[in-house]
Amino acid sequence: MYNVMSPKAEEFISHEEVLESLAYAEKNKNNRELIDGILTKARERKGLSHREAAVLLDCELEDKNQEIYALAEQIKKDFYGNRIVMFAPLYLSNYCVNGCEYCPYHVKNKHIARKKLTQEEIVKEVMALQDMGHKRLALEAGEDPVNNPIEYILECIKTIYGIKHKNGAIRRVNVNIAATTVENYRKLKDAGIGTYILFQETYHKESYEKLHPTGPKHDYAYHTEAMDRAMDGGIDDVGLGVLYGLNNYRYDFTGILMHAEHLEAYKGVGPHTISVPRLRRADDIDPDVFDNGISDEIFAKIVACIRIAVPYTGMIVSTRESQKCREKVLHLGISQISGASKTSVGGYAEPEPEEENSAQFDVSDNRTLDEVVRWLMEMDYVPSFCTACYREGRTGDRFMTLLKSGQIVNCCHPNALMTLKEYLEDYASEETRAIGDKLIEKEMDVITNPKVKEKVRDYLANIHNGERDFRF
Ligand code: SAM
Repeated sequence: MYNVMSPKAEEFISHEEVLESLAYAEKNKNNRELIDGILTKARERKGLSHREAAVLLDCELEDKNQEIYALAEQIKKDFYGNRIVMFAPLYLSNYCVNGCEYCPYHVKNKHIARKKLTQEEIVKEVMALQDMGHKRLALEAGEDPVNNPIEYILECIKTIYGIKHKNGAIRRVNVNIAATTVENYRKLKDAGIGTYILFQETYHKESYEKLHPTGPKHDYAYHTEAMDRAMDGGIDDVGLGVLYGLNNYRYDFTGILMHAEHLEAYKGVGPHTISVPRLRRADDIDPDVFDNGISDEIFAKIVACIRIAVPYTGMIVSTRESQKCREKVLHLGISQISGASKTSVGGYAEPEPEEENSAQFDVSDNRTLDEVVRWLMEMDYVPSFCTACYREGRTGDRFMTLLKSGQIVNCCHPNALMTLKEYLEDYASEETRAIGDKLIEKEMDVITNPKVKEKVRDYLANIHNGERDFRF
């Protein structure tokens, strides 16, 4: 029903509309009355249009900016509570035929080590990830139809879901691979992927084409319309993102919200997540060459304004960001973070030898998963290893319905506590376990349904018996 006459990339990301929105935002950045009106609407927690959000992003009134941050924090609490979902990336292959100017995997880079994991290597990597406590992965790969065809990706997914090691299992495999066909998206769906993630990099067509001078990724329309094809192929959960630093952030902020509006209007459900990656130093890549780097302050404002504009969309920050920066944006709307990430092809089971550098970019947060989990709990967040929504079929609009019903406290919260307890029991250091046990006890009060509470208590008490699968 939703597919009829779906507009093309240059229509749903209309350059003129972005420019007009930016001019409107610039003109109104000190318009107190208008900003008050937008904030009143935002307090209804039904989101904002891209134009309204652009005004908030540009707002220069100090007191209103404080209101924006406070509202983002409140919406985050109301919708996501204090749960933070954990994941790790797994780089499968860095063979790539594209010419992306900002990525060290670009085809002309002859000194980076090219690698592709065999199925045996994947088993080792995944067991190492399971031994840290990870349950959710994001698969990453360059685009190379010969070295990394869809069949290779599908084989990797099958291998990963098949690994049962001690109490560990990867229960949700998200996939971040190049734009592809409806047919291939259907294959990914059939393989049981969670979210299909694809970063737009920039919505500005001219810059996009310059930044991707060669290879299939050069095609702006094909890339920008990928999420429509993914949804046509049956994938409910898609993850958007732009790479901040490549182009004017105001343009890309507006573009990503227009993209979300498009998916909601034509596919019936908006993006499941929005990622906020920032450009990093990498082999053969100097981020200073790009003129659009953004400060930590602007970065935080972007996160806050996305939180307000699309309250139902999860937000992801990776280890590209430092501990300090992650701490700041967690409060403002982030709901998922990676921990102990390696951006090299392999490297979890055994560290990559220095002379073999295959990494995509330098990470800023190098802590172990145990350290990240403890740090979150010390700030009163509940690290969650839950993947139940996806396994229970609560994806796409069904997940949104749950979110909108306010029953998250009797579903997501208990699941988060049970999976955290499993993590503490199976993988945590003693110090982390002690902090976690106290936190779980305190967090039981958040559950409002007495029957649910009783079931959770029962589960937690019997966790030594090895049960690891009960979820709401
Ligand atoms: N090949 C797929 C594609 O074209 O979308 C997967 C992409 S890659 C493994 C994941 C993401 O890393 C890219 O979409 C890009 O935004 C990001 N990335 C590339 N170079 C980067 C850099 N130097 N710093 C930070 N992020 C980078």
